[in-house]
Formats: sequence, C-alpha cells, structure tokens
Amino acid sequence: TGALDPLGGEGPLLLMGGTFDPVHYGHLRPAEEVRQRVGAERVVLVPSGEPPHRAAPKTPAAHRLAMTRAAVAGFPTLGVLDWEVQAAGPSYTVRTLEWLRERLGRRPILIIIGSDAFTQLNHWHQWERMLDLTHIAAVRRPGTSLEALEPELARALEGRWTESPAVFHEQPAGAVMAFDVTRLDISATAIREMVGAGASPRFLLPHQVEEYLSAHGLYRQEP
Ligand code: ATP
Ligand code: MG
Repeated sequence: TGALDPLGGEGPLLLMGGTFDPVHYGHLRPAEEVRQRVGAERVVLVPSGEPPHRAAPKTPAAHRLAMTRAAVAGFPTLGVLDWEVQAAGPSYTVRTLEWLRERLGRRPILIIIGSDAFTQLNHWHQWERMLDLTHIAAVRRPGTSLEALEPELARALEGRWTESPAVFHEQPAGAVMAFDVTRLDISATAIREMVGAGASPRFLLPHQVEEYLSAHGLYRQEP
C-alpha cells in the first residue's frame, strides 16, 4: 500500500521536526504519548533539510529521511512529511508552518518540541510569528528544564499556557502546554558516537533504523 497522506485525517495536525540523525525512541515515544493525550490521529515527523540552527548534519538528508520512513513504516499513528528535505533553502520551521497553514486553513496545528529546543525558541527564525501559526507541546527531556526561559520568551508565552489539550481541538494555534512524558535519556549524538566506536545502538531505536544505518555504513568512523 502507498504511504498515507501525511496531511490527511481530521483534528489537530501534530508535527515533530528534527534532524533525525538518526531517529530514535526518544523521539517516537514522547511523540506517541502526546498524541494519545491530545487524542489526535497521528504525529507527522518532519526531517529537516539544511538545519539553520546547528552545524550541518554529517548525514545527507536522503538517508535521514529514509531512516525516518523506516521507523514509521507499519504504524498508522505515525507519518512523515518530506517537504523540508525537498524544498530548496534553509529549513526554517516558520516557513514550513506558513506552507502548512496555507493548506490547512483553520485546522489546528500542534508542534511537539523537546525542552532543550523549546528553551531556545526565541533564537529561531521569526519565532514570534511561529506562535501565531501553531500550538506548542513542550516535552521534558532528561537533563534539561522547561522552566529556564529567557525573559523575552517567558513574556511572549504569557497567557498562552494551558493545562488542558482541549484548546488544541478548538483553536487553530497560539497555545502552549508542557507534557510530562516518559523521560528517555537517548540522543542522536550519543548514538552516532556509539556506532562510531563500533558499539551497537540496539534497543535505543527501531530495528529497521539500526539495519538501515548498518547497511549504509552510517556513523562509522573513518579508519
Ligand atoms: P542530536 O543529538 O543530533 O541533536 P537529538 O537526539 O537531539 O539529536 P533532534 O533531531 O535534534 O534529536 O531532535 C528533534 C526533536 O526531538 C527536538 O525537539 C528534540 O528536543 C526532541 N528530542 C530528541 N530527543 C529527545 C528525547 N530523548 N526526549 C524528548 N525529546 C527529544
Ligand atoms: Mg538535538
């Protein structure tokens, strides 16, 4: 069967952006827990093309996209949007949200962001515009705090915080909610280092992803 239309379905569109270099259970499980609590049909993973906020990924976007597709295969509650990989130019989240907003009208959009990235939100391109284009689900990531916000970010979020996911069904954008999810101390950086050192990343990520990176020799240290 063909891949599901990532923008299909009803209710809030849940997104999780990332470099996914590689995708791992620290992405998938928190995303699934937010999905269940919000009562949404699906979470769509959005691998970045050229991420503007960090050093260029060592891994070509085509590999990161293929691993993300492998991770979601067979799970109807997960999808992949390849728009950022296909689009030319830098992967600004605000640009993706503008593109989605044009297609979705007033359908709610909710972006899931780990606490390490969330606390840096005020350094993202056109971050204040973003707050009007999407809701935000901030998930706690081990070793980082959701509370340590710079004053300008704390101020911009004032009045947007909600304790109930109902608003994600009722309004198109603008609310923020913190989610306590199972804290999985997994990072793609640690996985790359592990594989580089010749160790197996087994059980930190889906089996199909492990097979893919192994088959393509990804993250292996050059001798
Ligand atoms: P890297 O180490 O290369 O930065 P990463 O593991 O942080 O990789 P990213 O692709 O940078 O993964 O993260 C994509 C999104 O997923 C970000 O919002 C990030 O905060 C979130 N995320 C990543 N790992 C976790 C985790 N273990 N728990 C909760 N959120 C996570
Ligand atoms: Mg990261």
